[in-house]
Amino acid sequence: MIKLSDYIKGNIDTEYGYSPIVLTFDDGNDNNIKVTGLDSNGDIIIDKNSAVGVLEEYKKKYPDYNVTAIFFVTGALFNQPEYNEKILKWLVNNGYEVGNHTKGHNDLRDTSASKTQEVIGYMYNKLEDILENKYSKILALPFGSPYVKSHANYQYVISGEYDGKKYESLGALRVGWEPEVSPFSKDFDATFLKRCRAYDNNGVDFDIEMVFKMLDKTRYISDGNVETIVTSSNKDVINSKITDKEIILYE
Ligand SMILES: [Zn+2]
Repeated sequence: MIKLSDYIKGNIDTEYGYSPIVLTFDDGNDNNIKVTGLDSNGDIIIDKNSAVGVLEEYKKKYPDYNVTAIFFVTGALFNQPEYNEKILKWLVNNGYEVGNHTKGHNDLRDTSASKTQEVIGYMYNKLEDILENKYSKILALPFGSPYVKSHANYQYVISGEYDGKKYESLGALRVGWEPEVSPFSKDFDATFLKRCRAYDNNGVDFDIEMVFKMLDKTRYISDGNVETIVTSSNKDVINSKITDKEIILYE
């Protein structure tokens, strides 16, 4: 597992021979993280059956695997008012990321220009208030909407201003049906990223098994070096804007 912000920036430090994966969770429901109380140190106690509880158990069991995920929240944060701020701080201090899912889970096809900037800017400002610079400037579009970048509101997904503060999104996520390309690909667009759904439906309807099958021949396998890009494809598939990485080609 790697951080979404590292994927977007092309900082892939996955061990040689392994494939990176990014986990994302939307909406801040208590199946993402559920706090059952505070321990004697005042630290949150996490329900082992919530996603973070499962990931923390995994981390203990497999200490050589990197464990991380990003949680996209709305104005209700994790819907646990007495613990919300503690949860946010715990996540970023324990290797997880937190991103923007708009103030009210708004469908950005239907909002005015100023409302669009309000619901996005409000969340960036709220995360800034609680986490300072430790949150991720990435937006997960509620309902994956708008579905096209030509929509008039899309410019505000990428940048805008609310309450006297300007914001700029490093990336934006749609809803999922197929895996994204390498961040070094010419087809890569951080502001319009696809996701896969991690559900089980016997290998059909874009469930996780079908997604892995789709990746049979195109799966990204790390060369283990953050500074180099290795490919057997034509050099033309690589985004030439990545100038600081050495490109190694195999015929
Ligand atoms: Zn959502």
